[in-house]
Amino acid sequence: MPAEVTTETAGPGRSGRGRWTGRTILGWSLVVAVGLALAGLAYWWAQRITVARLQDSGAQRLEVYAVSLENLLSKYDFLPSTLELSDDVVDLLQKPEDPALLAAVNHHLERLNKQAGSTSIYVSDLHGITLAASNWREPGSFVGDNVAFRPYVRDALRGKPAGFYGVGTSLREPGYFFAHGIYRNGRMLGVATVKVNIEKLEQTWIQGNDKVLLSDEHGVIFLTSVPAWKYTTLAPLSAAVQRELAATRQYFSHALLPLDIHSSPAHEEGVQFVTIRPSASGAGADRSRRMLSQRLSLAPRHWQFIYLSDLSPARSNAQTAFLLACLLEGFLIVLYLYVRQRRRSLRLKLKAREDLQHAYDNLELMVAERTYNLKQMTRNLSDEIAVRQRAEDKLRVTQNELVQAGKMAVLGQMSAGITHELNQPLTALRTMSDNAAVLLDRGRIDDAKANLGVISQIVAQMGTITGQLKAFSRKSAGHMAPVAVQPAIANALFLVQRRLEQEQVAYRLEARHPDAYALCEGNRLEQVLVNLFNNALDAMAGVPARQLTVGIDRQANRVLISVADTGPGIPDEVRAHLFEPFFTTKEQGAGLGLGLAISEGIVVDFGGILRADPAPGGGAVFTIELPISKQGAVHG
Ligand code: ADP
Repeated sequence: MPAEVTTETAGPGRSGRGRWTGRTILGWSLVVAVGLALAGLAYWWAQRITVARLQDSGAQRLEVYAVSLENLLSKYDFLPSTLELSDDVVDLLQKPEDPALLAAVNHHLERLNKQAGSTSIYVSDLHGITLAASNWREPGSFVGDNVAFRPYVRDALRGKPAGFYGVGTSLREPGYFFAHGIYRNGRMLGVATVKVNIEKLEQTWIQGNDKVLLSDEHGVIFLTSVPAWKYTTLAPLSAAVQRELAATRQYFSHALLPLDIHSSPAHEEGVQFVTIRPSASGAGADRSRRMLSQRLSLAPRHWQFIYLSDLSPARSNAQTAFLLACLLEGFLIVLYLYVRQRRRSLRLKLKAREDLQHAYDNLELMVAERTYNLKQMTRNLSDEIAVRQRAEDKLRVTQNELVQAGKMAVLGQMSAGITHELNQPLTALRTMSDNAAVLLDRGRIDDAKANLGVISQIVAQMGTITGQLKAFSRKSAGHMAPVAVQPAIANALFLVQRRLEQEQVAYRLEARHPDAYALCEGNRLEQVLVNLFNNALDAMAGVPARQLTVGIDRQANRVLISVADTGPGIPDEVRAHLFEPFFTTKEQGAGLGLGLAISEGIVVDFGGILRADPAPGGGAVFTIELPISKQGAVHG
């Protein structure tokens, strides 16, 4: 079988499909060539067998036909010589003028002819003149005919018993002529001739497809199963033969044209392949056919018996064998391809299974590796989380400290005001206590009492101020709780009260929901508010109309606290950095830039939002949005 049809595995610049290589083409060409040669061998072998079989049956038939011909002829062979046993015949030859004898012989011949089944019997004298004949009564009677030119008569007159096939000159009926001299006391008196019709043999031959013919020593076909071939010749006649035949009128006036027959070199003694053309056969429908020719020589008469077998069964058998061989080879090729394909797919399946196993093993290895890595990462992550946690805790502490620092910064900023706030009552206290001492000296006890009452009031007032400061500076407890918004605003406002008065800033509270509570830390909310108030006051420092408006509103589950001023507002470039730590537009020492950053951090911690917008009448409005608390609680 040929080399593989290569199935490419994926590779650079190669397709994955099967490709015919030079080796493959050569291999398959070889297979086809060997297959065709074997089919040709089958063709030749089948033809040979069939031809051999045809040859056997042809030889048998030929033998049978020859024997039946011989039988027929030998039956009459002796008949002419028996006539010399008849005295009448002998007498007639000696006295041909005797009418009684003639009549007797005619009757005798007529009877004998009838009994023997021959065509005619006649007796001729030494000049070849027919004296008496079996057909003496019939119109075409031979009586009186001169037959000296007929070879068989000539031979018989020469003392040679003769046999001759020819066409009768009077009735033009063909037949076989047996002639024999009639002797008495060793002297020839005349010739007796018996004519036998052997054409009836043809009838037995005209059966089946096979052709039979009988030719004389010149190759003239005179008996045949094919009527068209009758009186044709196997080969063109030489001029001498033609002259001789014309002289003896053996075939009367038949043209004796050659049959268009072509023979291939002798296959075996007496056996040939021949092709007979239809033109010569005379039968238009008959096609040119190749036939097997078998010849049997009938020696004493120099005749040739030829039996022709039709070769078409041999051809069709050979074609069938060729086809069967091709089919068998095709089947074998398909079987081979099928087995090869199966083996290949089995191999591929095994390979795929191996690959799968390999991939599975790899996968297991990878999973183990990944699991190990993942564990490692988890461990690292846990470590990192712990580090972050610590950092966050630290940050929270720092943030708280920052918030506290911011608070302290505010207090620092307010320290002048607070000092002033406390100095005033302190001065009053000193004056009042001096006055009280003077009044006691003068014995004005009631006035002194009244004075001491005022002193007590002033001290209480100062206690409130320091209490507020203490509360503001206190560190946050870190607990979220409901905080009443309005008191927280009041507390923050208290811390900037002095600035409001000094800077002549009008204050207005627009509380749509004065009882609102927010969930946050009161202390840190106040810190945010103080920051916003201080920023508002800072912003309004240079403007003539100064108004601080604080609003309390509600939106769904949020409490909105707005702080609006009538300052110059916030330019866009400032707004972009508003909540960044250490961003300030104030002079050095006036602001740290931490107020809004800390405030936003606090509000976001509460779960709220701090935002800055332009105020409707100019200036800025800061809004603190906090989660609302339905449940009221005392501000702490
Ligand atoms: P500081 O007050 O120390 O500057 P803040 O964080 O409180 O720090 O404020 C940052 C900046 O925001 C201020 O420097 C100012 O420019 C601007 N700002 C804050 N509040 C207002 C306001 N009500 N009107 C105009 N500008 C403001």
